[in-house]
Amino acid sequence: VYKLGKRSLRRLVGVDPILVFCVIEAIKISKYDFGVFEGLRTVARQRKLLREGRTTTMHSRHLTGNAIDIVPYKNGKFNWELPHYFNEIESCMKLVIKNHNLPIEWGGDWKSFIDKPHWQISRKFKDGYDYRKDIYG
Ligand SMILES: [Zn+2]
Repeated sequence: VYKLGKRSLRRLVGVDPILVFCVIEAIKISKYDFGVFEGLRTVARQRKLLREGRTTTMHSRHLTGNAIDIVPYKNGKFNWELPHYFNEIESCMKLVIKNHNLPIEWGGDWKSFIDKPHWQISRKFKDGYDYRKDIYG
């Protein structure tokens, strides 16, 4: 059984607790290890990613703590080249999302700019909007 390491937990500081809960539960049922590559992002870093073509927006949900990037972890390193790990992460995250009815969507399901590491609070809910009322009453 895997759990998030200290570095991953540090990278969850400032991230929406619904996302934090989801990733902590998902790794408990995953047959492969993974980690949090990025959570809350600075505007300066977002600008740099935009220049490098690694994002398409300056309105990333990472800037508001509404998104995380989860990447397979193998032999002590993050590794983006492991499709079966990404499949496992997808299954585990989606199971927790379904079981707890969480308002989280996956970048891998997007039609343009497929972003497999990326999970965010659903776009139905604007930043700063208290979606918990809508879900939990
Ligand atoms: Zn992301």
